[in-house]
Amino acid sequence: MSKKLKVIAIGAHPDDCEYCFGGSAAKYIQMGHEVCFVSATNGNAGHQTLGRLELAAIRADETKAVSAISGVSYVVLDNDDGNLTDDLETRDELIAVIRRFNPDMIFTHRTNDYHTDHRHTGLLVQDASFLLGVPLVCPSVPCMEHVPVILSFYDAFKKPVAFQADIAVTIDDTMDVKVRMLDCHKSQFYDWLPWIEHESDQLPAAKDDQYRWLNDKMRCKDAAVANCCRTKLVERYGQDAGQQVQVAEAFEFSEYGKSLTAEEMAVYFPF
Ligand SMILES: [Zn+2]
Repeated sequence: MSKKLKVIAIGAHPDDCEYCFGGSAAKYIQMGHEVCFVSATNGNAGHQTLGRLELAAIRADETKAVSAISGVSYVVLDNDDGNLTDDLETRDELIAVIRRFNPDMIFTHRTNDYHTDHRHTGLLVQDASFLLGVPLVCPSVPCMEHVPVILSFYDAFKKPVAFQADIAVTIDDTMDVKVRMLDCHKSQFYDWLPWIEHESDQLPAAKDDQYRWLNDKMRCKDAAVANCCRTKLVERYGQDAGQQVQVAEAFEFSEYGKSLTAEEMAVYFPF
């Protein structure tokens, strides 16, 4: 391995990084790179019966379980779920987290998305990107000396502009790790999300069956990503291998981050 990469994924909620980037994160970890997940909020609005305090504690424990099974480190910022804004205090908080980790790559949400917290997370990262290297901003944490690569997670939103897949990667061989990461978020995938999405009646009662149900759902979702980005997969892996990819993750480059030559692409995406 020529360069040990430091990769940070910044989601709005505990589970967003796993959902959008879990398969790729597992690949980086398996290849000896370092991965940190950040949740910009503590996730304390994602439940239909629990209160905010109790829920924040449960969700913090769920992120610890993700770290234990996957090897990613996890930072949960204590901002209220549903209330995230791109104010200066939160931006400085995020700049400090990013600078301390000193990443080569940053993955996050796009700035158009159904969820206000996702949008604001994308905006906070976008606004932080140049300031990461400005010493007089957030001077208590030394500024970064290099410009990281910045990428957006895949999403299916179309307005005002649709996601453009600049790169798509197979996660066929790490999909099992990704589903196990998501399975750690029991308060979400087996409780809150079925309730808010009006599909509680489809949730099996037995734990093993719940896991299989989640596995099927996630494979279906990431198969749609693979199909949507098939051209990019074929470009990357060749006609035969590209067509055979079952599940994928895809990303769009931000023009505010470092741009990569073809040679560097192979270093930053070594799978
Ligand atoms: Zn979210």
